[in-house]
Amino acid sequence: MPRKLYLETFGCQMNVLDSELVLGQLRAQGYESVDHRDQADVIIYNTCSVREHAEQKVWSRLGELRERKAAEPNLVIGVIGCMAERDGTNLFKRHPHVDVLCGPGELDKLPSLVHNAVVTGTGAKGERQIALMGNTSRRSSTLSAAEDTLELLDLSRSISPGDEVTQAYVRITRGCNKFCTYCVVPYTRGPEVHRPPANIIEEVKKLTDAGSKEVTLLGQTINHYHYKHGDGRETSFAELLYQIHEAVPDLPRLRFVTSFPRDFSDQALQAMRDCSRICRYLHVPAQHGSDRVLKLMNRGYTSAQYIDFIDRARGYMPDISIASDFIVGFPTETEVEFQQTVELVKRCRFKNSFIFKYSPRPGTIAIDRFEDDVPEEIKRRRNNELLAVQQQVSAQSNAELVGQTLEVMVEGESKLVSRQARSAYPASQVELKWESRQLTDPSPVETQLVGRTRGDQVVCFQGDLSLKGQLLDVQITSAQNLTLFGKLAEATVSQGK
Ligand code: SF4
Repeated sequence: MPRKLYLETFGCQMNVLDSELVLGQLRAQGYESVDHRDQADVIIYNTCSVREHAEQKVWSRLGELRERKAAEPNLVIGVIGCMAERDGTNLFKRHPHVDVLCGPGELDKLPSLVHNAVVTGTGAKGERQIALMGNTSRRSSTLSAAEDTLELLDLSRSISPGDEVTQAYVRITRGCNKFCTYCVVPYTRGPEVHRPPANIIEEVKKLTDAGSKEVTLLGQTINHYHYKHGDGRETSFAELLYQIHEAVPDLPRLRFVTSFPRDFSDQALQAMRDCSRICRYLHVPAQHGSDRVLKLMNRGYTSAQYIDFIDRARGYMPDISIASDFIVGFPTETEVEFQQTVELVKRCRFKNSFIFKYSPRPGTIAIDRFEDDVPEEIKRRRNNELLAVQQQVSAQSNAELVGQTLEVMVEGESKLVSRQARSAYPASQVELKWESRQLTDPSPVETQLVGRTRGDQVVCFQGDLSLKGQLLDVQITSAQNLTLFGKLAEATVSQGK
């Protein structure tokens, strides 16, 4: 009988992709994935250390499993991802019933770790299976993807009939070299390693052949992508975009996240402008409007340089949609400096911003170097003020879209979570959370659908659930701060697009 596996993912798109790949490898070894951990023989949490909230959820999940592990010693519990790497074996002090620990830079080893824990019963004997990046050779920034066994994890991607691939992620770069003072990623994911263009293109083709309509390329600082070939030639990020666009003509939408405000070449902007199937959308975190605070954050640019990039992008593509991230209440932030962030949001007219109150994260430079000296109530007030300004900006830019017909990728039934439920999400989160329901009932049901435009705007409209996964033209009839509302365009209805 196949062993049952439950895998829960926290954090960013990179973790979602890692989970998908790990799941594929474990399935190939005979594991069957289940929807509830009570049914599982192996329980794995793929974790995130960027926000305290996500870590707390994992701590509480692990605490809930303590009694079950005592009653079922053969149960295997694994923690993978950034918390595993950041906390290391300290994690066992709090949760000695965890059997497997694997950092995000070592995930290619996970199948054998799980195999050891399950088959040899090391979990039951109290022995642990551990793979952390620590000081392994992957720390070397000269390491090429071709020499990296982690590349095999990405290449192992298998698509089975019934897998949901309409929207898919493809990694192009691992790790980060920026060392922003508030961030753990360079320590948990290691230095930047760029994947060979041929492997990336092959993966995008494979997904498109299997039915993907939108592929999002992933990298922590994606515009840094550059691959050095054995013969000395280099492929830049712009060249990679052109190559994918040309090599995979059947893919309707190509996106990428996350961009770093520096080192974004004109050539990459030209590629976005020239290639009709690349979505004109950028997620480019500014983090702050004050040059002094940006320096404390070690971001490596000034607000003037950030604005210059935004203006350059809009110079090439006046209709581009841009989203950003901000931290309020960074140590020593003054009221005047906070107002510089407010001015930046007004000046740059972001589609939306993800706004977070600073909280010191273990393992970062900032926690050691700076006192967390902005009182909580001031952080909260600044957070709400910035949120209100962003909402005004979003409402204005959304209003400009009323009357237009936009292509929408239908994600499923829209179900705006109730105000009560929404309060469970970080208060600063600008984006509303939507839930998509899988199509289980084949009969057409007129319902409220939700989807996204090429510019990543959320659109709601009436339609039947069988439209999930399709690209449709929707005429925008009204707008709110965060959502557009519309109806299926006439041509779409008549052509049954
Ligand atoms: S660019 Fe900065 S914030 Fe982004 S992953 Fe790298 S260190 Fe973290």
